[in-house]
Amino acid sequence: MLDVRDLSVSYGTIRAVRGISFTVGKGELVSLLGANGAGKSSTIKAIAGAMKTSGGAVTLEGKDITSANPEQVIRAGLATVPETRDVFPDLTVAENLMLGAYIHRRDHAGNRENLDRLHTLFPRLAERASQAAGTLSGGEQQMLVIARALMARPSVLLLDEPSLGLAPAIVERIFEMIETLKKSGLTILLVEQNVNQALAVADRAYVMRLGAIVASGTADEIRSTSDLSAHYLGG
Ligand code: ATP
Repeated sequence: MLDVRDLSVSYGTIRAVRGISFTVGKGELVSLLGANGAGKSSTIKAIAGAMKTSGGAVTLEGKDITSANPEQVIRAGLATVPETRDVFPDLTVAENLMLGAYIHRRDHAGNRENLDRLHTLFPRLAERASQAAGTLSGGEQQMLVIARALMARPSVLLLDEPSLGLAPAIVERIFEMIETLKKSGLTILLVEQNVNQALAVADRAYVMRLGAIVASGTADEIRSTSDLSAHYLGG
């Protein structure tokens, strides 16, 4: 589904991502783990078309999206929820959601149907539909940005640190939602520092350190590699 080959990302002379390769299969939930500065966000930004790559290739369902811009990437079927969790604060929850449907803006019936589905999944967003997005709690804003990305009807969802800065009870709920999305058949790449929670929902995981992938395997394999957390994940 998503195939990343020898991907490199640089900021001037800083090589943030050093030729990494990984895949995410259809319907799989794959987690990309690593401590601060490992290169996870740079990887996500490069895949999403928000940053230029300095080498390698990204393919989505066989289509080369390496040099695509963010809109082209979304149209190809890949939506991203960045860690910045940006909502349009002065717009309502409903208006924020409709902006996510930009590429389907003429398909009113399809958008209505998708919105109904997302309201079932995120009932809180239905309750808050006419509230300004800037007045939502942190957890609600995270749900909103996930739902907004899903309004694009992607086949692959990239989630960058969805648990960042949220209280444990909210993190629990966000992960429950991620599991529900996985069960619905969505393909997900989940970037997390929250290793235990991420491995609990992931089929497979890759561990990054200093711009390289240093371990990969099923969630169980990664978990049972006892020195991983100490050496690579800062745990
Ligand atoms: P975090 O979880 O803290 O976001 P990360 O694993 O996502 O970490 P990146 O944000 O991808 O890591 O950063 C990888 C490396 O690239 C780091 O050394 C970082 O300092 C560097 N870096 C990131 N953004 C920039 C930038 N705009 N300019 C220069 N260097 C950058």
